[in-house]
Amino acid sequence: MADEEAAAQAAASLQDTGAPTVFDKVLKKEIPSTAVYEDDLVYAFRDISPQAPVHILIIPKHRDGLTQLIKAEERHKEVLGHLLYAAKLIAVQEGLEDGYRLVINDGPNGCQSVYHLHVHLLGGRQMRWPPG
Ligand code: IMP
Repeated sequence: MADEEAAAQAAASLQDTGAPTVFDKVLKKEIPSTAVYEDDLVYAFRDISPQAPVHILIIPKHRDGLTQLIKAEERHKEVLGHLLYAAKLIAVQEGLEDGYRLVINDGPNGCQSVYHLHVHLLGGRQMRWPPG
């Protein structure tokens, strides 16, 4: 099993605990991050382990139970739409008009390792399909 798969399986045990995640620490500035965008609802910063020349994480500022997409409820619709619109704004800001990819890893089989919903924005190189 690859390292990231093992980490995702291990992280799954925390998914329903509501325990603080590394992203809570990022939001509280307890862990430094490189911000690229921020508004009332979302915060975006560069991934610490970039998988492409541009690799940005976009997260809700208030988790509000959104540990992962499958936990989404009616009340989350505004922030879910906002995450996608922010992704578009950031893609333009990063000069990615030729294309980019958005990824949401959901749950252990989706290889999710941090249980605070986040959208990966990847760009700056040719993407391949299918993903692993
Ligand atoms: P996931 O595997 O889809 O849950 O993505 C979690 C992402 O968070 C991974 O791409 C990690 O590299 C990234 N990450 C973890 N800790 C930090 C951090 O402190 N700063 C920035 N990115 C982080």
